[in-house]
Amino acid sequence: MPTNAMNQIEADYILPVSEIGNLLTKLTTKKLPLRRKTVPKDILTEAKIAERVLSDLQAVNSLGEQVPFNCPGCGGVLWKIGGGKELRYRCHTGHAYTYKSLLAEQTTKIEETMWTALRMFEERRNLLTTYAKTQTGAVARSAVERSEQSQVHIDRIRAILLADDKSTTPN
Ligand SMILES: [Zn+2]
Repeated sequence: MPTNAMNQIEADYILPVSEIGNLLTKLTTKKLPLRRKTVPKDILTEAKIAERVLSDLQAVNSLGEQVPFNCPGCGGVLWKIGGGKELRYRCHTGHAYTYKSLLAEQTTKIEETMWTALRMFEERRNLLTTYAKTQTGAVARSAVERSEQSQVHIDRIRAILLADDKSTTPN
């Protein structure tokens, strides 16, 4: 873990474990010369977004490329932040995602929407069936046909939800 941390950031101090306690004491009790560093502009902008003090779209645009995905948290536009292999996304209100967490949020939203659609088609089928029983002739036949169409949609949505359950693997 220390090696990984040193590969990711520039460390202020690199010491053996036995010397860390003394340094922490010095740092907290004595005034050591501070090594002032300039915070990179993109980090500063991201921090301001996280604190929800930034609503300037121009500043958010400077972070990265706007992508055609919506933020699952607020429905806002997302920007791709940074480069390289690590895909990160942010909206201007402060929600932040990695590729994996965005995918997981999208999957959850899709599933919720499908269950809502399933429930609504079932209600529609039941209403049409009930209505058909109170009618005769062409009106009754039309209501029955429409309830049967709803049943087709219900079966399709169920099949998708069940297939999705089976294909879900822990990742
Ligand atoms: Zn958002």
